[in-house]
Amino acid sequence: MEKPFNFNETPGKLPKQVVPTEYSIRIVPNIDNFTFAGSESVELKVRSPVHQLVLNALELKIQAASVDGKELPASAISIAKETELLMLALPSELAAGDHTLALRFTGKINQQGQGLFYMHYQEQGSAARKVMLGTQFEATDARRFFPCWDEPAFRARFQLTAVVPKNWLAVSNMPTESEQKIAGGKEVRFAPTPPMSSYLNVFVAGELDLIESRVGPMQIRVIATKGKAELGRYALDATAQILKYYNDYFGVPYPLPKLDQIAIPGGFGGAMENWGGITYYESALLFDPKNSSAETKQNIYEVIAHEMAHMWFGDLVTMAWWDNLWLNEGFASWMGSKCTAQFNPQWEVWLARELPRDPTRRTGIAKEAAMEGDARATTHPIQQPVATEAEANSAFDDITYKKGQSFLRMLESFLGEDVFRNGVQGYIATHKYSNTTTADLWNALSDASKKTVGDTAAGWTGQPGFPIVKVKREADGKVRLTQERFTVNFEDASPLLWKIPLTYSLVGEAPATLLMTDKTAAMENIPADHALKLNVNGTGNYRVAYDEPSWNLLLKNLPKLSIEDRVNLLSDAWALVQAGRAPGSLYFGLVEKLPASTDLAEREQIIHVLNFINGLLAGSPASERFQQYARSLLRPTFETLGWEAKADEPPGAASLRASLISALGDLNDRQIIADCHERFEKYLADPASLAPDLRAPVLAVMGRYADEKTWNKLHELGLKTTSIEEKQNYYNALASATDPKLAKKTLAIALTDELPTSRAIFLVSRVARDSGHPDTAWEFAKANTKSLLAKVDAAGTNRYVPGLFTFFSDDLRADELKSYAKINLPRASAPEVAKAVDEIQFRAEFKKRLLSQLPDVIHSGASK
Ligand SMILES: [Zn+2]
Repeated sequence: MEKPFNFNETPGKLPKQVVPTEYSIRIVPNIDNFTFAGSESVELKVRSPVHQLVLNALELKIQAASVDGKELPASAISIAKETELLMLALPSELAAGDHTLALRFTGKINQQGQGLFYMHYQEQGSAARKVMLGTQFEATDARRFFPCWDEPAFRARFQLTAVVPKNWLAVSNMPTESEQKIAGGKEVRFAPTPPMSSYLNVFVAGELDLIESRVGPMQIRVIATKGKAELGRYALDATAQILKYYNDYFGVPYPLPKLDQIAIPGGFGGAMENWGGITYYESALLFDPKNSSAETKQNIYEVIAHEMAHMWFGDLVTMAWWDNLWLNEGFASWMGSKCTAQFNPQWEVWLARELPRDPTRRTGIAKEAAMEGDARATTHPIQQPVATEAEANSAFDDITYKKGQSFLRMLESFLGEDVFRNGVQGYIATHKYSNTTTADLWNALSDASKKTVGDTAAGWTGQPGFPIVKVKREADGKVRLTQERFTVNFEDASPLLWKIPLTYSLVGEAPATLLMTDKTAAMENIPADHALKLNVNGTGNYRVAYDEPSWNLLLKNLPKLSIEDRVNLLSDAWALVQAGRAPGSLYFGLVEKLPASTDLAEREQIIHVLNFINGLLAGSPASERFQQYARSLLRPTFETLGWEAKADEPPGAASLRASLISALGDLNDRQIIADCHERFEKYLADPASLAPDLRAPVLAVMGRYADEKTWNKLHELGLKTTSIEEKQNYYNALASATDPKLAKKTLAIALTDELPTSRAIFLVSRVARDSGHPDTAWEFAKANTKSLLAKVDAAGTNRYVPGLFTFFSDDLRADELKSYAKINLPRASAPEVAKAVDEIQFRAEFKKRLLSQLPDVIHSGASK
């Protein structure tokens, strides 16, 4: 069992005899040759005498080092590239007590989003090409900016000073303390931070604009490149709303004097929770009411809510080591969704398709995405050992984020909302400005709930996978429950047991709970003619398989079930089909019996499955008949919604309409394609004629069936716009082109600088996924690996090539990837290679199985 946080016992490479308490850092960037010069002085507390100082540095040149004012000879300074350690040999023993280390160094400004990086962008309303600077340090890249004790348990105060051009705005974690003109620019000094982990530092500078507001004494700002700050209005309002909610939820008010939300036009695709200065990829923060879609709006809110949860969970209280990354990410994902759902119930955030934030990730319901990966042989426990920097970087996966989130949601619904929150408040109050392990959270929740939470949680965080609960009706109102591990494409999985916080209800009656601690459990007094639903509203992280009588009763009662329960039945049924535990007709039988509905989450689950099968069958002789069947399932919903938004339609209708247009377009619906053509022509003459919500799907359909002329038009529009969101719509459309000649033209763009580097490389995976030509995309990537990988950051390097293979469904490709990886990929990419190999093998097997079952599915559907 894991122990509570203890600094001395925390894993890591750095010796623990010396701890930094205060850094004072001065950086002078040179944007002409993308280098920088730096100096720092670090207050040290030496806990026991040492003969050398060991800290982190990477791609830095150390020009001078001194301890307590005494210069060290150059021979005393060494950097080990492999371990990313800077060693300073001391002339004599350094006594316990306070000391000062001073360093002078130089480094480089990177093209990709790691350490200090630069971005080129086109300024709003002008043709001018500008440059700006930003930083990205998590997990282990602060050491590229200044030498430091770059492990999360080494908390210290950081005070940054930077020299920038006179017309630039510079932003960091804390407010500006002083600013003075100097030769060649101005020197900006920021106030010192509270004690925090090194990876949470931030520095952004450029020709920036801002809008601001206050929440009580707190200053909140949205910062963007010149001309775009006003597009931050929605984000600024959301920030105020979320801040009040969290101040209240956590019981400790936001601890810094200001919070900046910073939009950057490149560097990375997501967002980063630097304390007091959160950075976002521009389209995850800026919302243009005239041109942005409902999806963009929702995505912005969700990302902000996630990142702001980190201000407490992650920044104020930080995981001790990367093996507990889930504490940060699982919690922020859960908290962000909870807050988003609180203020925006219409989005059905717990149920609906998660928005595609990262183009390499599969989209799907967050929980479902985690469960899909967690059922495979390549999964791992939420908590797993992390020894190296590369392992720290690969910890940022679906298991960490989404299984973590899903498990916390199950736990909250089992302990009760108030008890759970009391536990969280106790945890924050006890551990603020410090670090923790998972055990600290369980202890706080146990105190609040008077239950042994750690005991129940251990199976979920310490072992891989999750259970399926089988329901069997026996005589005299008895129901027998049996649990076993649920797997997909994983035959020799070791059997495991969980303590399952079960919820269940007799349809129409109040739900009840049952902690299932053994392999089997029995329920009494369940009337034989009553439908029984386990996993009420799908809040639990397990699957359920019903015996035939129970399933038939559920099918009869579908109109009485909540949407949450119906989505849960759909997801479980589809998972049973994937696992080979049920034929395809189980899932499609359910779909066909559902009452007509325009509910977003329910219909999107179906779209998700149809999309997957459509992709899998591309090019096969069964494809056309399947498409016809799939259209017959989706058409009625689209006809109810129509093309035009109505004033009284349900809140999810706009998103569902967009999804249906894309899906029907992909399914070769001639009418939809013709309608898209017509709307596209009007849009070219008058962009306002096409509602923002409809732009992405119409453009995608135009791209998919584009001829050269249309492709060129889309490309021209993509080149021209300065909106990152619009740009992305156009280039996504280009990537969908099914004409092989056009697919090649799109691929070539990945090597240009038309798109921010972090997006350009993903054009290749887009083409692999959306054009139906994964082979062409891979041939291109193979021929250009070097230039493509130069644009990927640390986290992306291990994933990039394996990611391209996941769109194949031919066993030979699995072998090809294995032999390619052996020669060309770093060892750290092995887990990603294994995942991709597993995905290809799963797809190959599943495709065969589906092809044999489809005639049944389609036949019964047609006879309906
Ligand atoms: Zn996060």
